[in-house]
Amino acid sequence: MAKDLSKTQWHGIPRMEIEWFPKIVEEKCIGCQLCYVSCGREVFEYEDATRKALVERPYNCLVGCTTCATICPTAAIEFPPKEFVQKLEKEYKILKVVRQIAKEKKTKKEYEEARAKAESILNSVMTNIEIEATGHFGERRIIPKIYEAIKNDPCDVLYLNIETPGLKSCWKEKAPSYCRFRLVSTEYGDVTPYLQKIKTIFKENGVVLVSENRIS
Ligand code: SF4
Ligand code: SF4
Repeated sequence: MAKDLSKTQWHGIPRMEIEWFPKIVEEKCIGCQLCYVSCGREVFEYEDATRKALVERPYNCLVGCTTCATICPTAAIEFPPKEFVQKLEKEYKILKVVRQIAKEKKTKKEYEEARAKAESILNSVMTNIEIEATGHFGERRIIPKIYEAIKNDPCDVLYLNIETPGLKSCWKEKAPSYCRFRLVSTEYGDVTPYLQKIKTIFKENGVVLVSENRIS
């Protein structure tokens, strides 16, 4: 369905009160359809029977625009003179409204920029990371050491999972265990410094970091 822009306003003036739209000089129109396909506001229709363009939705036309007249190959499209718009601007004192709209536009732009900046900061913050590591978790008491290191930090270790080839083989034969957990911020902050503490514990205790996957 074609859009209807006739109920909109042009800088505070109801669009229906402004007699700005194209008129087609029928004898000059060769039915090339350039205006019909070019106008993004769906002002025109094309009539197969007469092979002419029609101004079907005049109040959809953007006040001040004359693009279709410029591109019409036979100069079949006419508009009121530009003084018509200038007179309108004076009569309705639209510059005051325009200033207000410009202010709102600027505020919106600033808001959007601030939001984009905040999103980019948030995206660069790592709040939830999954760690996989292998080493002597039981014998070297890795988990209690991690707890001690981060117990006062705004983060926690979740979904802790340790797999051993067997308790006895871990202790007797020094077989490594596999461990997986998530380091999660409890304040939606960056967990990088706490992750660093854990990595230091790994390093000091011969634990090999298999992978670290950022979750968010
Ligand atoms: S661009 Fe001009 S000639 Fe072509 S259909 Fe439109 S009015 Fe007619
Ligand atoms: S002047 Fe612009 S908006 Fe109006 S009918 Fe022509 S192309 Fe469409």
